[in-house]
Amino acid sequence: MFIPIGEPCLGKKEAQNVSKCLKSGWISSAGKYIGDFEDKFARYCGSKYGVATSNGTTALHLALLALDIKEGDEVIIPDLTFVATANAVTYTRAKPVFVDCQWEDWNIDYHKIEDKINKRTKAIIVVHLCGNPAAMPEIMRLARRYNLKVIEDAAEAHGAEYKGRKVGSFGDIGCFSFYGNKIITTGEGGMCVTDSRILSEKMRLLRDHGMSKTRHYWHTMVGYNYRLTNIQAVIGLAQLERIEEFINRKIENASLYERLLRDVEGIVLPRLSVHARHVFWMYSVLVTRRFRIDRDTLRLRLREKGIDSRPFFYPLHLMPPYRLKAHFPVAEELSRSGIMLPSSVKLTEKQIRYIARNIKDV
Ligand SMILES: *Cc1c(COP(=O)(O)O)cnc(C)c1O
Repeated sequence: MFIPIGEPCLGKKEAQNVSKCLKSGWISSAGKYIGDFEDKFARYCGSKYGVATSNGTTALHLALLALDIKEGDEVIIPDLTFVATANAVTYTRAKPVFVDCQWEDWNIDYHKIEDKINKRTKAIIVVHLCGNPAAMPEIMRLARRYNLKVIEDAAEAHGAEYKGRKVGSFGDIGCFSFYGNKIITTGEGGMCVTDSRILSEKMRLLRDHGMSKTRHYWHTMVGYNYRLTNIQAVIGLAQLERIEEFINRKIENASLYERLLRDVEGIVLPRLSVHARHVFWMYSVLVTRRFRIDRDTLRLRLREKGIDSRPFFYPLHLMPPYRLKAHFPVAEELSRSGIMLPSSVKLTEKQIRYIARNIKDV
């Protein structure tokens, strides 16, 4: 037996859609399903426009380019995130500036953002880590005071809400990933959502080699090929029909994990805010000293029982491309103690009980 950390949930509808798309011949990045997927996903997020991309990283890069982020600029990001958040900033030759996380939600500590703002600061990328929405109203207030752009990296948080509003719709642009282990998947894929027609058109232009819409092979800027294919979009449409079912399943799984792990000494569970709809992309806990066995040993023991897991991301400031002498105590401690447990929507109650029992046995 092997319980994976995550796996896509693909049904008959996905297969039928792919077959329909194949028969139509429109398998590349022109075709009617792309626009349909963009419209439906943007509407789901409560945003006006959607721009589909080849993956979540290109979505972030496109968003930064559309907001004119360039060499000499600084972009504030959390120290604890998947590396793509920082890399997208680096692609524009701007400098990513790291801010520590907070214990409450493991997201960027917005109380510490102000200290990092200077003349060169142009934007903040907020990451909704593991599906837990950051406190966007507070961050938007701060950004407006300093005239900063806000990009939401919602790659792990499709459908998450803060005070009833979906993530991705607070900032200037929200970015999503449809990689195989994300909440919905198109294999590889991504999307930018925005309420600004101007930004959406700029992103469409940049996504398609910067080619003029009215003059073929006339390029008004250096663009990119960051397009999603029609065949990926048609999978996305089938996935989108089930997104609420997937999320509710993840929330149910999380509450079962919580009930089973609540009383285990040394295991710290994610805190839930009354304002947040946490979508639990990956159900994660902290393995503290009081557990008496460290996180990595726990992972090995679980692996012997056929249970997959992941450590948290490394803090960006400790990795070779971004090394700094600075100290980010919360990000460092989260990274040292955090473990992501199996979180697939296909998990059974029996499997979750088996995982929890093995954690207790260790
Ligand atoms: C997955 C992820 C990305 C990148 O998405 P890809 O589709 O893999 O390029 C960016 N940011 C975060 C926080 C992610 O989890």
